[in-house]
Amino acid sequence: MAHQPANEIQDLQFFGEFGGVNPSISDSSTYTFMSAKAMMDTFEGEQEGCYLYSRHSSPSTQYLAEALARMENTASAQVFASGMGAISTTLMQLCKQGNHIVSSRTIYGGTYAFMKHFLPQFGVETSFVDITNIEAIEAAIQPQTKVIYCETLSNPLLEVADIKALSVLAKKHHLTLVVDNTFTPLCITPANHGADVVIHSLTKFINGNSDAVGGAVCASTEFIESLKDVNHGAGMLLGQTMDSLRAASILKNLRTLPIRMQKHSANALYLAEFFQNLGVKCAYPGLMSHQGNPTFKKMANTEFGCSGLFTLDLGTLEKATELMELMQHENVGYLAVSLGFYKTLFTASGSSTSSEIPEDEQKEMGLSSGLVRFSIGLDHDIQRTAMQIEKCLLACGVIGVPKSLDLC
Ligand SMILES: *Cc1c(COP(=O)(O)O)cnc(C)c1O
Repeated sequence: MAHQPANEIQDLQFFGEFGGVNPSISDSSTYTFMSAKAMMDTFEGEQEGCYLYSRHSSPSTQYLAEALARMENTASAQVFASGMGAISTTLMQLCKQGNHIVSSRTIYGGTYAFMKHFLPQFGVETSFVDITNIEAIEAAIQPQTKVIYCETLSNPLLEVADIKALSVLAKKHHLTLVVDNTFTPLCITPANHGADVVIHSLTKFINGNSDAVGGAVCASTEFIESLKDVNHGAGMLLGQTMDSLRAASILKNLRTLPIRMQKHSANALYLAEFFQNLGVKCAYPGLMSHQGNPTFKKMANTEFGCSGLFTLDLGTLEKATELMELMQHENVGYLAVSLGFYKTLFTASGSSTSSEIPEDEQKEMGLSSGLVRFSIGLDHDIQRTAMQIEKCLLACGVIGVPKSLDLC
């Protein structure tokens, strides 16, 4: 049977200590050993199934890691205190002084800042390229390059990375292909298309409640073990560990991810088509008009759609601000960063989550200051939501009197 990520989540059985339907939460930072030898063996990584100290791993973080590895079809995984914790740990493990990264130029603002400003202090440089231009990526590869880095669906421009083509390039040049899949859990399984390391900010769709921060790295057992190595592991030594209580709560929320992703995607597709028909500049990978649509379709686990994010380009920051304040006033959603919540969230990306990227570079990559990114919620009545947003667009003068209002 082919890998089906939702079935993987459905089939996981972790029983609690007293037959609980949820696994018991490990409420300990340290673990006792019945013999000194067993402890020594564990330190040397030779004792399977033994826990030593919760910065290394705990039963609760392991349950969540295993669930995510199954979902992403990788042999192993490790969870972290945040998405940035997962990203920084991975890159510092893969790159030593003098190494080089080729990265997509449209990535999460924090990741961009980490590569652009932080890593150079340790002698690691990054070239930022258009990830949809395979020739440009190959041209940017240098003898000291170690990593190709991208997001499956990029933030905030929603460019789609051709993971298969990137993986061919990575193999040819002996590089590690690292893919941030935060925007498209279940929708796309990057490892099935050749990604070596798959990263998530669990803060977003996977937890889905906007009440927790977390991250994950899904990869080969060899790579995950290297992160946990007590002498050389960036996971172990930088200490961006997830707490057991948090791991347990995120695991419970992961169980409903399949139905949530279906609803987010269906709602976003409805609205994207609605606004495209109104003549508003709208980008959504599920639209035929979107440049990345064929690439997305080629990789998609189709029953989960094209995720819950789309953008509207209002032209100027003033218009974007006016619209967002009005939408919040009309209770369409919240003016807030982040994504994957039950309620719609919207931000002007250029001045918020991508503000780390200088203005001239934003222009060059096509990031308009009037770009509003929407993370569409789980709205039960999406037609009603569409009408609410339409009224706001009308009030801001973005559109003329729409047909749907003429009818009433
Ligand atoms: C939010 C986000 C991150 C960072 O995750 P945190 O959990 O906030 O540290 C990384 N990549 C993407 C695509 C994100 O949206």
